[in-house]
Amino acid sequence: MRSPSVPRNYISEARKRVAPKRERIRPIIERLALEHQDAAIALKFRAPLELLVSVMLSAQTTDVNVNRVTATLFDKYRKPEDYLAVPLEELERDIFATGFFRQKAKAIRGTMHVLIDELDGEVPRTLEELTRLPGVGRKTANVVAAELGHPQGIVVDTHVRRLSQRLGLTRQEDPVKIERDLTKLVPREDWGRFPHLLIWHGRRVCDARKPRCEDCVLNDLCPSSRV
Ligand code: SF4
Repeated sequence: MRSPSVPRNYISEARKRVAPKRERIRPIIERLALEHQDAAIALKFRAPLELLVSVMLSAQTTDVNVNRVTATLFDKYRKPEDYLAVPLEELERDIFATGFFRQKAKAIRGTMHVLIDELDGEVPRTLEELTRLPGVGRKTANVVAAELGHPQGIVVDTHVRRLSQRLGLTRQEDPVKIERDLTKLVPREDWGRFPHLLIWHGRRVCDARKPRCEDCVLNDLCPSSRV
């Protein structure tokens, strides 16, 4: 009988015998790194503050949409004070196209207050400080810390979650538990690039509905392979 803690999709897809995950993780990373040499964050930014704002704006929308908005936004808002110098409604209008603009404008202004009052206007590097910023959750903090060269965890988005399950690297559904499984498995020096590799592989090959297992460089390492 199926254990209630094991997701159904994991059970139904995990039908091919493969080596234990500890033996597979390095070849998985190496092959994905070769396959997706351009794997990197899709958000465009020139400074840590732009990175932080971009990631905050990216909730519930696409990176392409965020880049479209920030192309002009970052010419107008260059430092934390700029976000507080305009009326709230003006900032809301400027980020309207990213959706959830009221929540996002409020979070951005709250964050700018903390940056100015407590952090000398600088974007912090630690998860602890980042998650203290209004509207900055663990995922946003992980993305920012990793892009600033200080990964302290592994970003888990929808692609990372799906691929980790299909590859048999976790049986968890909850992002925090998936991250815990991955940080035990993935070598520390790869924490920053690992999510990008899974995200790009998920977009290009391991589609949510139609994984292209026949073209996948991992098909002999993947318990969910259909070839
Ligand atoms: S596309 Fe690759 S990673 Fe995805 S299920 Fe198929 S073999 Fe596994």
